[in-house]
Amino acid sequence: MTAPFDTHSPDLVSWVESANAPETPFPIQNLPYGRFRRDASEPWSIGVAIGDRVLDVHGAGLCDSPEMVQWLTLTRAQREAQRQALSLALRHGSDARAKIAPWLMPVHELELGLPCEIHNYSDFFIGIHHAANTGRLYRPDAPLLPNYRWVPIGYHGRASSIQVSGRDFVRPKGQVKPAGAEVPSMQPSDRLDFELEMGIVMGRGNAQGDAIPIDEAPEHIAGLTLLNDWSARDLQRWEAQPLGPFLAKSFATTLSPWIVTLEALAPFRKPFVRAPEDPQPLPYLDSRTDRASGAIDVTLEVWLQTPTMRAQGLGGDCIVRTGFAQAAYWTMAQLVAHHTVNGCNLMPGDLLGTGTLSGEGPGQAACLLEITQGGKQPLRLSNGEERLFLHDGDTVTLRGFCERPGRRRIGFGDCTGTVRKARP
Ligand code: MN
Repeated sequence: MTAPFDTHSPDLVSWVESANAPETPFPIQNLPYGRFRRDASEPWSIGVAIGDRVLDVHGAGLCDSPEMVQWLTLTRAQREAQRQALSLALRHGSDARAKIAPWLMPVHELELGLPCEIHNYSDFFIGIHHAANTGRLYRPDAPLLPNYRWVPIGYHGRASSIQVSGRDFVRPKGQVKPAGAEVPSMQPSDRLDFELEMGIVMGRGNAQGDAIPIDEAPEHIAGLTLLNDWSARDLQRWEAQPLGPFLAKSFATTLSPWIVTLEALAPFRKPFVRAPEDPQPLPYLDSRTDRASGAIDVTLEVWLQTPTMRAQGLGGDCIVRTGFAQAAYWTMAQLVAHHTVNGCNLMPGDLLGTGTLSGEGPGQAACLLEITQGGKQPLRLSNGEERLFLHDGDTVTLRGFCERPGRRRIGFGDCTGTVRKARP
């Protein structure tokens, strides 16, 4: 038994050379979990990203099962022990190098799947600037509804249409009723939007009837991903009252392939602060620990590449830069405590979306509805093109990373999707 050591130390380097490149999102301090296969005939197996390689964790003898659900149901102490073992095996000078090396594969030779099987998906609305900016479009006098500062608002999303980064999706059709029209029509959405969100992947679940107390939430959260909640604003406008989003959201959601673990994110935690003039959280949503360290500092970006840019060999424009901690009105632990307070059972691999994480300042609005002020002010792109909403062939990529002085920067890996034209 080796004594625990600091898996976050910026001095740690790996014998996997690509993991030591300053720009890699996956240095030895990260070690995110996902699922890979060599070809479509194979079942998915657990992999850990290290530099430009993926380690077959089960093949290498570092976990008991190739099934992701087995890792998701570990206790926090067991996850931490596995992280220690991985870090020890992959660091420079490791005795395990000869045993581990055959189980490393270049990521470009693999297919990456969704990081786990997702049974249920709930989407929250914790970006207070997004809630205020979109509310203002419809209710200039009262952008935030009276419940917003008391209760984490959410709805039940669709799990079946969540797809892994890199896939295309077909522009949705639906009922729309433009202002001035007498009756609705059925047509392809022409107000297709992205939403920059984070996805919280649940680890161990709770039995139906048992709530997860706020301070136990970290035992039940496996980690974070990037999530794009594609949204058809014209469908949404016509269908959303009185029961909330339905077909405007259920056609596709894109998720990044790697779960960045709570353990890897530990150095980037920061206090959760509720302004004194706001209502303070009810007791089930409040704890000393959550106030001290409930927030996580993640820098978030949205990149847009149009078909013209692709033809011109341009990589795309960064059109949004914001941050998880500055955008979020509620913490991850509050969301888990709230979701289960009525006795709802969460399962391993359940996904909680945060909602659109817009900041307050210029360039920080995290969906086109906000950026274009409801489809009125075009977004100018660097090559002279403009967008109100997404065109066919547009590729949207979400990126995220954590950095802090004295810490190794870690990243999430891309969350990318491309719009295909509507079916006839
Ligand atoms: Mn959303």
